[in-house]
Amino acid sequence: MAGLKSFLFLVLFVSSSLLRAGGINVSRVDPPFWWTGMKNHHLQLMVHGNRISETVPAIHYPGITLESTVHVQSPNYLFLNLVIDETAQPGTVAIHFMKGKKQAVSMAYQLKQRDRSLGSHGGFDASDVIYLLMPDRFANGDTTNDNVKGMLEKADRTNPNGRHGGDIKGIENHLDYIKNLGATAVWINPLLENNLPVYSYHGYAMTDFYKVDPRFGSNNDYINLVQEAHGKGLKVIQDMVFNHCGTNYFWKDDLPTEDWYNQWPEFTRSNYRGGVVTDPHASKSDYKKMVAGWFDTSMADLNQDNALVANYLIQNSIWWIENTGLDGIRQDTYPYPYKDFMAKWMQRLLQEYPDFNVVGEAWLSYPVSVAYWMENDRNFDGYHSHLTNVFDFPLMYAISKAFNEQEGWSTGTAELYEVISQDFVYSHPENLVLFADNHDGDRLFSKLGKDLNKFKLSMAFLMTTRGIPQIYYGTEILMTGLEHNGHGDIRKDFPGGWPGDAKNAFTGKGLTKQQNQAFGFLKTLMNWRKTKKVIHTGKLTHYIPQDGVYVYFRYNDNESVMVLLNNTNTAKTVDCNRFAENLKGYSTGLSVLDNTKIENLNTITVPAKSPLIIELKK
Ligand code: CA
Repeated sequence: MAGLKSFLFLVLFVSSSLLRAGGINVSRVDPPFWWTGMKNHHLQLMVHGNRISETVPAIHYPGITLESTVHVQSPNYLFLNLVIDETAQPGTVAIHFMKGKKQAVSMAYQLKQRDRSLGSHGGFDASDVIYLLMPDRFANGDTTNDNVKGMLEKADRTNPNGRHGGDIKGIENHLDYIKNLGATAVWINPLLENNLPVYSYHGYAMTDFYKVDPRFGSNNDYINLVQEAHGKGLKVIQDMVFNHCGTNYFWKDDLPTEDWYNQWPEFTRSNYRGGVVTDPHASKSDYKKMVAGWFDTSMADLNQDNALVANYLIQNSIWWIENTGLDGIRQDTYPYPYKDFMAKWMQRLLQEYPDFNVVGEAWLSYPVSVAYWMENDRNFDGYHSHLTNVFDFPLMYAISKAFNEQEGWSTGTAELYEVISQDFVYSHPENLVLFADNHDGDRLFSKLGKDLNKFKLSMAFLMTTRGIPQIYYGTEILMTGLEHNGHGDIRKDFPGGWPGDAKNAFTGKGLTKQQNQAFGFLKTLMNWRKTKKVIHTGKLTHYIPQDGVYVYFRYNDNESVMVLLNNTNTAKTVDCNRFAENLKGYSTGLSVLDNTKIENLNTITVPAKSPLIIELKK
């Protein structure tokens, strides 16, 4: 309510001042509010309003100093650099915009008390399994917000590329489903406003970095969702985009500065070649196109070399963390913004929240390219990203191939072995986020030729090798889709998410036997993983795939888990002598997936095209 009161106060103040001062006004301030007691005492306000730059701002509030004011090309902006020292108390700060001796306009700015009850900002790690969902396509918990006045695109469930009506309420209704499956964190594709006439459902063309799209709910609904999730022991990871914003952002016809966006004489698309950024042989023109080209016609390329843009983005991310108690961020298109800015952002985040995590989408095919982006002290150019986590794209490609191929010197599970064996390029391979599919590519079950055995092999591997597994909504019930059929095909509605759906995956109603098997398999595996510290933090030793079976161990001083992946179409009896260094001290085992005892560890039989996960016993 305090927020509403100060908003009304602001509206009244502004509108009455508008009449007095011949059109000078304040129409927007970003960030909309801030907090006392932050580690970093600086705050830069972007004040937007008609001819506001003609005024001189003044603030009289104990503990707050207006250090400087920045004028830009557009007369309709002022940037106020504030210092909020330790003595500043929460409250409403009056900012007076003076013209000569007269006040042209005034506004109330709210400084809040930090709310420690929101969460620990403790981040995520390899003890987690992340469930990725696309809010428009997961569940429609509130049909009254499917169409909202003022929002350009209306719901149309018959259009694969249109909005289908999913929302925050839908996610909230099904947190228990996600929890029961065994996930411990939810990564939600962008929830912020995307007010564009078409393709607004995916959320990556944000038109307001400070506002949840009303078709998903309100900012308060989002805060409540994070609270509810925390109450159930689920972490929340927010999807952020610093590379671009939607072309309908409020500043679109009145950019603060000409270089707010990277400008080109005519529309110029990025070449999407992320590797150019680290390529010692890259041409300047390729590099420029990569980082300054636009991602799409509806996605304006933000220029983070402009210090005001940089500050705007950095403060925005802190605002969401502080406002909601988020546990992590997934940052889109990591190599596309200027990398020095990204490093500066990470430093600032970690200064404020030392245990926080950000996973970067560096969509690159080789471990050496991906490793550059995760903090390490061995980059060829001395670059420190300070980024805590990256997605393991090379391993995703390997999983997509391994179980479809015949075993060979470099095919089949050798694909997995080869990628894992390159972990020396990473400072912390356990911080890689692992996945077999996501919202941008072919769905796993389609990649695997709709073969349940291959699915089980993929998931067994994903859940037991090093790193932080992430699964994509619907993978657990074998949803299919191919990217070349359009993104709508890989982002179909989750069955049961809409009133009247014939199938309901939340209850199991109408699922096929195979879907139930897949769900049961993954649920067993994920809930087992949840309690297994040895999988979270144990060492990994793997053996060269032999006779079609890939064997590895996860172990610490107290326990050991043996994983055998048989990638052939016949049962294999494996002579375990080769694994003596890992079997020392163990004599029997428990097969995790079917809860049966393994009586001896001399030879182990693995059924055709199947995984075997064994907790070793002394
Ligand atoms: Ca809805």
